[in-house]
Amino acid sequence: MVDMGIEPYLVASAVKLVIAQRLVRRICAECKEEVPISPEEQEELHESTLNGIQQTFRGKGCEACNKTGYRGRAPVFEVMPIKSKDLKRVITEGGTEVMVAQVARREGLRTLKDEVLSLVNAGVTSLEEAMEIIASE
Ligand SMILES: [Zn+2]
Repeated sequence: MVDMGIEPYLVASAVKLVIAQRLVRRICAECKEEVPISPEEQEELHESTLNGIQQTFRGKGCEACNKTGYRGRAPVFEVMPIKSKDLKRVITEGGTEVMVAQVARREGLRTLKDEVLSLVNAGVTSLEEAMEIIASE
């Protein structure tokens, strides 16, 4: 919004929540199967990124999903309540998106990455789908 020419102090007082949303493909329930995390995936992801995920799921591919392994989509949200003084200050002072995100993370923001990994853990989507979100972060 600051990029749109709105004064930073107005953004800090008017905005309570910033939401980022992405969509991931949902694993087909008909052919869902558990798969161990491959060494390549483990290597690609840092230990901390895995968040203790031991196994993931994928769709094998069946009639119901046209052999794709996916059926439908699931949203991934990032929600950032702007209520702390620090957060308001960094926005008021015209901090960059990166600076704002740093403060928000320090205050416990659940990022798109956190959210998509919990979807992987719950078997809603595949690690492959999550990797695309993580890579775009
Ligand atoms: Zn299927």
